[in-house]
Amino acid sequence: MQRLAIAGEAIAGTTKKLLKTGIVADYLKSRTEDEAAVSAVFLSGRAFPAWEETTMQIGGRALWRIVAELAEKSETDLTESYRRHGDLGAVAGEILPERAGQGVSALEVEAAFRQIAAARGPAAKAALVRDLISRATPLEAKYIIKIMTGDLRIGLKESLVEDAIARAYAATLPQVQRANMLLGDIGQTLRLALEGKLDDAQMRLFHPIGFMLASPIESTEEGLSYFSEAAVEDKYDGIRAQAHVANGEVKFFSRTRDEITESFPELPDALAGLEQDAILDGEIVAWEYPRNIRDTQEVVDEAASGASSDENASEDEKTRADEDKAVNLGRARPFSVLQQRLGRKKVSEKMLREIPVAFLAFDVLYAGGELLMDRPLRERAGILDGLLSERKVIHHRVTETQRNAKQARLVFEDSEPEDDSELEHPEHEENQTRAASVIRVPVFRASSAEELEDLFVAAQARGNEGLMIKDLDSSYTPGKRGKAWLKMKRELATLDVVVTAVEYGHGRRIGVLSDYTFAVWDGDKLVNIGKAYSGLTDVEIAEMTQWFLEHTIPDRNSEAQGFRLQVEPKIVLEVAFNNMMRSDRHESGYALRFPRIVRLRPDKSAEDADTIERAREIFERQAK
Ligand code: AMP
Repeated sequence: MQRLAIAGEAIAGTTKKLLKTGIVADYLKSRTEDEAAVSAVFLSGRAFPAWEETTMQIGGRALWRIVAELAEKSETDLTESYRRHGDLGAVAGEILPERAGQGVSALEVEAAFRQIAAARGPAAKAALVRDLISRATPLEAKYIIKIMTGDLRIGLKESLVEDAIARAYAATLPQVQRANMLLGDIGQTLRLALEGKLDDAQMRLFHPIGFMLASPIESTEEGLSYFSEAAVEDKYDGIRAQAHVANGEVKFFSRTRDEITESFPELPDALAGLEQDAILDGEIVAWEYPRNIRDTQEVVDEAASGASSDENASEDEKTRADEDKAVNLGRARPFSVLQQRLGRKKVSEKMLREIPVAFLAFDVLYAGGELLMDRPLRERAGILDGLLSERKVIHHRVTETQRNAKQARLVFEDSEPEDDSELEHPEHEENQTRAASVIRVPVFRASSAEELEDLFVAAQARGNEGLMIKDLDSSYTPGKRGKAWLKMKRELATLDVVVTAVEYGHGRRIGVLSDYTFAVWDGDKLVNIGKAYSGLTDVEIAEMTQWFLEHTIPDRNSEAQGFRLQVEPKIVLEVAFNNMMRSDRHESGYALRFPRIVRLRPDKSAEDADTIERAREIFERQAK
């Protein structure tokens, strides 16, 4: 461990990445395979491989006390040293006494970490930590504590350790990255690299892998600037989850790679019927199911199979389904509702009934023995559609579970069935049970900024956060935040503004005045602050067009006539936006990002509109 700590000090001593990876590579090569494997895990700032859920559960306070005790120092001394370093590991390195015979190997440290994790109760854990630290040299203790607190602070990320492994064992970085991604274990990756077998790394089900992340965008134009074909989905406000399915067994993992199946006992059944082993990516949300149980089931199944309507559905349902499937599936409830379901080991029947959830699947990483991450999204999307449509009908499965384990019963009606015979009755199943659903996230297409804005408004009207815009040609890159997935989120605030000028629209909106320039008050003067062209219904736009044509003000700039019309400042709109910036595009000195019309405010007169002071307030609040 002393060697690892010395390497750590050298790594911390340089900011050059190449030097850092060189030091790690040399260190790893100088160790035995076992020691190098454990060290690779430690150097990426972890006590255990990423896929493992093992944690030591030893609090910072307890560590602090142990260090103080072993150093025979007061809390004040420790605080003084902590102020200088801001890192308990460094404090320990400075104040712990050096004694003869100290020294532990990296393998001994690993064994001790596992013992600590397995020990029950804070006292037993603390005794083991005390023993480990007292056996270590002060420098070793410094690194042991850094690893225990999960923060090495030597400017070394796992990606640099991957780089070092590639250098040490003559492999390519992509080979190492891929193996590490599949295994979720940098130590195991190192072993394969050493044996020249990196390409043998296989996907391991029930070992969560990294999640692909999205980058925020600043404008709708930006949303379409990185790729030619975009898949657009609602951005649901829940928690990200990776579902692993094999032979009817289902587990869900969170973004922190923790298993969260226990918190959602109703979800596994919904996926257990998959025809193939699979890993799906999606979002768990609190879900408001349509009133009638049969509606949900039919619409979910129908959406999964891609059919546009169902024979048994009423006319009304058919129309609605065609109009907007995303709404018919039910809708997401706010995150604050889901929050009540998080972090629970036991979920009461009441909770299950009052806060049902759904798993909204939007990607597939693995299915039927094949790793799909390198395939383009357009192919993965097709595979996901197929997988979910082939799955066995959910509520049968739930009922089966109910028969096997009555305690797992998921009955969403007020009165619970009395006995099993009732449960076995098919009609009863359909009428009384509602399986938690796995819903294929509806995918839209957009090829213009205007279409994107319309989708954004529709997503928000469904109560969702915004949009995810995804490159149909992109592969799935775990743990990376790139430009293949873009996110467009909820507004920052809304302003009531007065329309000062209008323009004819484009595309579908040719011939109607649909683009509005609007202003806020600066004293008794209106100053323009933005322009928006979405959010109103066609009927509203038609009515507004009529009104504006009757209330134009002759423009001094005659060339602009017919294109941009100045109008009497009477119409008040509520506009939402995501961001505000300083800009000289408009007189107000500000511009809005993603401005969109939330609604007309016929209840307000122009004098009631917002002021430049309020705009400034919003701008300043956002800067905080
Ligand atoms: P953020 O948390 O703001 O970085 O936004 C990215 C997150 O949005 C993802 O990690 C998911 O948890 C969530 N999300 C919601 N809907 C989707 C979707 N359709 N596709 C991908 N991610 C989504």
